[in-house]
Amino acid sequence: MTRAEGVITRAPASPSRTVQRVTIRFADKRTTLGRRVVESVGNHMTLDRDHPESIPTLFAGLSDAITTQTPKDRPTRLGLTVIDYKEVSGILTKPKGFMAGYDFTINPYSGCAFGCSYCYAAAFARDEESSSNWGQWVTVKENALDLLRRLRRNLSGKSIYISSVTDPYQPIERTLELTRDILRELVHHKPRLVIQTRSPLVARDIDLLQQFEVVQVNMTVTTDDEGVRRAFEPGCPSNQQRLDGIALVAAAGIQACITMTPLLPVIDAEAFADTLLATGVRRFIVQPFHPKKGQYSAGTKDTAIPLIRRFQWTHSQYQAVRSVLSEKLPQLGEGNTGFALA
Ligand code: SF4
Repeated sequence: MTRAEGVITRAPASPSRTVQRVTIRFADKRTTLGRRVVESVGNHMTLDRDHPESIPTLFAGLSDAITTQTPKDRPTRLGLTVIDYKEVSGILTKPKGFMAGYDFTINPYSGCAFGCSYCYAAAFARDEESSSNWGQWVTVKENALDLLRRLRRNLSGKSIYISSVTDPYQPIERTLELTRDILRELVHHKPRLVIQTRSPLVARDIDLLQQFEVVQVNMTVTTDDEGVRRAFEPGCPSNQQRLDGIALVAAAGIQACITMTPLLPVIDAEAFADTLLATGVRRFIVQPFHPKKGQYSAGTKDTAIPLIRRFQWTHSQYQAVRSVLSEKLPQLGEGNTGFALA
């Protein structure tokens, strides 16, 4: 009989279930042993690794630490954001248009609490009211993990983009860990993965991201100025938090990229480039607002237009800043070609 000393390192709440998966970290490797209703981190234990049926006995000794999470306990509001939960028919989407270079996109959530003023994803909301209330609601795809687990398709080598119309690391992710669960499941499929976010929370999942053979984390940083950031992206983490987050990702040996998409008013392009380089990131993407109906890009949310006017940010100013960035940054892609997985 093999016995081993282990520590419960993580007991993530799956938003779709009342049970949770328990992962034990051994000295030699990380092992998932089963799914139990448990919320306990850091409890040392001795267990029989060859006989997982011994686990219930083990949990009996942890009764004080055990809590159950029922659907009733799931958050239905986070700050000003209303959270709801919905089963969806699929979790892998064949992208079109801008993301057509990828085999699939995965969006764990619909809606996005970050609510950026320019967010094109608002145009894909289910109805007009949801589009105009963008930023105030999030729908959790509660069966996302089950759908992935039941998947018969071979995803090996397929390129997957997480996420195209939501932020996978928006605030509710800290509680639900749905994106984390999805990553844990995807590791076995060996896809080529790109994560796109505006949140330093992505650094929480470095341990999983390191297990992918091909992975890139894109962090969006749109300006060097907190006043500009607050005007356009009031619900998002600060510039510095994002820079710190992507610096952690890069330092962990994971391919990292800073996406300036769209590039917003920049105060000092030279200093901005130096700040970006100080993160250790060496890959960058820049993109302007595209004209649409004589003004801004297809799908760019209308709320950004008066802001752009207020800051008097023109395409020629964009070009001047881009020119400085392209001189100082080693790999600067532009537009959708920049988004291709290296
Ligand atoms: S973080 Fe992305 S998906 Fe969320 S509101 Fe901003 S642009 Fe839209």
